[in-house]
Amino acid sequence: TAKPVGKIRQVQQRNNKIGNQTAIERVERIEKRDSTENAPPTRLSVGDYVKIRKLDETTGLIEEILPRKSELSRMDAGSTSKKLVQQTLLANLNQVVIVFATTQPEPHFGLLDRYLTICESAQLPSIICINKADLPHSEQVEEGARLYSQLGYRVIFTSIQIEQGIDELRNLLKEHTTLFTGPSGVGKSSLVNAIEPGMAVRTGLVSDVTGKGKHTTTGSQLYPLSIGGWLADSAGIRALAAWNIPPEELAWCFVEFRPYLGECLYADCIHLDEDGCAIRQAVDDGLINERRYRSYTRMYTGEER
Ligand code: GDP
Ligand code: ZN
Repeated sequence: TAKPVGKIRQVQQRNNKIGNQTAIERVERIEKRDSTENAPPTRLSVGDYVKIRKLDETTGLIEEILPRKSELSRMDAGSTSKKLVQQTLLANLNQVVIVFATTQPEPHFGLLDRYLTICESAQLPSIICINKADLPHSEQVEEGARLYSQLGYRVIFTSIQIEQGIDELRNLLKEHTTLFTGPSGVGKSSLVNAIEPGMAVRTGLVSDVTGKGKHTTTGSQLYPLSIGGWLADSAGIRALAAWNIPPEELAWCFVEFRPYLGECLYADCIHLDEDGCAIRQAVDDGLINERRYRSYTRMYTGEER
C-alpha cells in the first residue's frame, strides 16, 4: 500500500487530504483494522471476559480485564465533564444474525448491505438468516442469497412454520454471544423464541405487556441461553443500528472491494467518478456485482433508500 501513496505524490495534482487525515494515515488506519492485537481495556463493560481471584464461595476480585475481540460503542457525555467520550456498550459479541424474510416483507438487499458493512466496520462476523422459507417467493431472493454466499457470508434459510433451519441456527448460537437484528416483521422474535421460549420478551425484541420486562437503563445486557451462549438485548441492537462508518472506511467494508483498494490511480479515490478507479473497472468487468456497487454509492452519498 506504499505504492498508491507514492503515486499520488507524483501524479496527483489534487489535494491529498481528507479532512485532517493524509492519505498515508488513512491507509494505515484501514490496515490496522486487520490486526487482532487489541490493548487490554481499562473500563469494564457488559460482555468482558475477566480474570477473577476467588475470595470465598460467593465473592471474588476482578484482577484483569482480558483484551476484547470486538466492541460495540457509542458516544456519551462523560460523568464528570460534558465532553463526549466513547463508551463501550457491549464487548466480545461473536456474531450478528441479520434476519430478513423471503417475503412479507420483501427482502431489502440495500438494507442488508448496510447491516453487513456495519458489522464489517465493527469487526463482527455476520450470519444472514432468511426466514419464512415456507412462503412462496421470487427467484430474486434465491439469487440474492447466492450472491452473499459467494461473498463468503453464511446464509441460512429458516422457517418457523415448517421448522426449517432452526436446529442449524440453534447450533450456531451455542457458546456464542449473538445479537439478532433486521427489519420488523421478518420473524426475529419468533426465531429467538423457537430457540428459547420467553427469550423474545427478555431481550426486548417484543415489548412485554406487563411492562415488567421493560428496560429502565440505557445499558445493554446479555441473556444466557440454556444451550450455552448469550443473546444481546434491544439496546445492543439500537447501538448497532446507530453505528457510524467513517466514509473513508466504507469501501473496505464491502468485502469484495478489498482486493482492488490499492489499485486506484489516486490513493484518496472514493470510487465514485474518479479516473483510473479500480473498483469501477471491476464493476465494468463483471468482477464486482453492480447492485452491491450501487449500495456503496448510495451509502457514500447518503441517499440510502
Ligand atoms: P419480528 O418483528 O422480526 O420480531 O417478527 P415476528 O417474530 O413478530 O413475526 C412477524 C410475523 O411473521 C408474525 O405474524 C409471525 O407469526 C410471522 N412469522 C414468523 N416466522 C415465520 C415463518 O417462518 N413463516 C411464516 N409463514 N410466518 C412467520
Ligand atoms: Zn477507486
